[in-house]
Amino acid sequence: MLQLMRSVHFTFIFCISAAFIAAAPVAAPAQQPEFDLRHIDFRDDGTATLSGDWFFSHGALMSPAQAHASYMDNSMSKVAVPNSWAAHLPTNAENPHHAGYGSYVARVRLPEGVGAKLMLDVLRISDAYEIYWIPLNAPERAWRVAAEGTMTGPLMASHGHKGHSLAMAEDGLMLINVRGGLTSDNGIIQQLRLFHGTQFQALVQTERLIIGALIGIVLIVGSVNLSLFVFHRKDIATLVLTLAAVTLLVRMILLSDMIETLFGLEWRTFRLRLEYANSLFLFWTAMMLNQALLWQQIRNWRIIVGHGVISVLGILLCVFAPLPLVTQMWIGAEVFAVATSAAILISCGTAAIHRTPNAMFFFACWSAVAATAAFDAMTTSYFIHVLQTLHIAFVLGITAGTVQVGRRVIMAINRAEFLEEERALLQKLHQDAVDTARRDHLTGLLNRQAFDDELAHAWLQHEKDDSHLSLILFDIDRFKAINDTHGHPVGDKVLRSVADLLSNTRMRKSDRVCRYGGEEFAIILPDTSGEDAFKVAERIRKSIAGHVTGCADDLTLIVTCSFGVATANANQPDDPSQLLEQADAALYRAKANGRNRTERHEMPNAVAVTTDAAQSA
Ligand code: GH3
Ligand code: MG
Ligand code: MG
Repeated sequence: MLQLMRSVHFTFIFCISAAFIAAAPVAAPAQQPEFDLRHIDFRDDGTATLSGDWFFSHGALMSPAQAHASYMDNSMSKVAVPNSWAAHLPTNAENPHHAGYGSYVARVRLPEGVGAKLMLDVLRISDAYEIYWIPLNAPERAWRVAAEGTMTGPLMASHGHKGHSLAMAEDGLMLINVRGGLTSDNGIIQQLRLFHGTQFQALVQTERLIIGALIGIVLIVGSVNLSLFVFHRKDIATLVLTLAAVTLLVRMILLSDMIETLFGLEWRTFRLRLEYANSLFLFWTAMMLNQALLWQQIRNWRIIVGHGVISVLGILLCVFAPLPLVTQMWIGAEVFAVATSAAILISCGTAAIHRTPNAMFFFACWSAVAATAAFDAMTTSYFIHVLQTLHIAFVLGITAGTVQVGRRVIMAINRAEFLEEERALLQKLHQDAVDTARRDHLTGLLNRQAFDDELAHAWLQHEKDDSHLSLILFDIDRFKAINDTHGHPVGDKVLRSVADLLSNTRMRKSDRVCRYGGEEFAIILPDTSGEDAFKVAERIRKSIAGHVTGCADDLTLIVTCSFGVATANANQPDDPSQLLEQADAALYRAKANGRNRTERHEMPNAVAVTTDAAQSA
């Protein structure tokens, strides 16, 4: 038993030791940086990254021969890639933009015969760079794979993410010379990646397609919001959404290489500044958008203005500060972004708790944008870059906002139209009611109350203009007899007939014809002298006396009226009631003097036009 245990123990120890001995060469760290990619099937696996330790030197550019010799001697120090080497290098006093030179060397072993189909994707090397391939056993056959920007002379920064073909490469050294640029990010900033050519093309096409689609959607969203704003200015969310769409559009244009392609590489610094400024502005619009979406207005101006001031200061710095400072500001901008997102989420969340309409929906949208932004900031994956996740989240956010705001604006427009129709209807009903209240229902002429109002109004005008104001009062002669003889319905008919005649009589627009009461009528004649009023009265008197009223098939009547005219001039009378008394007195005189005649107040020799008294036919 003991023997058995001993032999088991021995076997165990032996196996463990053997395993360690066997694993030792495998685990031993390689002395020189090397990426052994021979086991990768690029056609199926697609990609391989060149991230990790590289040999690194700085201060001068390396020739391929120097790089080969240094690699073989193992005489270079190592640096992790990707990484910015700005902090390690002295700046060149002669060229303030020039942050120095750096060279990266590593061995790359590729599967046989695959090089021609491979693309080296340079997501970001800052700024000018050249890439050499040095066959390990024949350094004299080194060749330049790619060059972007110039390595000497005036700075011509290169940028982008570019694919460079590794035709003929199998086992060799990759030498990357970099000339540091204007920003504080220098060297290989994002991981280098090898792609199968077809896949690389597919990715580039996909990215272009996605960006194109996003730009299209943003254009539509922007124009929809602009037109909504034009039609309905009350909901400020449409204006802010338009602003956000424009900012997003500018951002996508800035992030593509469009500006450098159109205007030249020297515009890169300008583009960079704009890109940073645009990001700050985007967060400001997000802050405004949150309030406008939630409440249809900017409710908390203090926050918006405070946030805006910080944004504007940041934007001014981005535009005017020295470029290295601008690129270092990025950390500050990220803090600003996080604070803004937190403020937006808190305000949305609080509104949701208070059951503000749609607050939950907006909270979900902002959460998605914030999560994507955080994810985007933490990953440098090319796939994430290609998928444009952050832009998609932004665009979906403003599209969802537009759908909600569109619905609410259309509802508001409908409601406003409905209210406008209701208002017009009520106004008309009110006007009709007022008109009805001012009319005498038997004759349709202005009633006594309207007469009082009109006379008071005309009196004010008369006093103001110092003009003449005349008043005619007239009364149907012996009307009681008509009622008594033919009955009240016939009397009513006669009253209506006289009223129709008056309505059809040509008079000034400012003249007012009223039923004063019973069979008595009044006509207010502003800006009319006594003589003219007398003429008018006479004209009416004659036309009434000459008018035959058909009361029934076998009954026609002719009535006459007696008229009293009074006129107010600058001196007298003092008020409208006196004018009324004077006209009444004149009318009384006309009755006394034989009826069917017109008398003027205080006319020593009254003009009397006498015709036959009322007669019936
Ligand atoms: P005079 O020539 O002096 O004016 O004689 P008159 O008969 O017209 O005067 P009076 O004031 O005595 O009679 C007026 C009559 O008018 C009395 C009243 O019955 C009648 N009347 C008043 N309003 C109406 C009405 O709306 N319809 C009818 N049918 N008659 C009315
Ligand atoms: Mg009468
Ligand atoms: Mg009378």
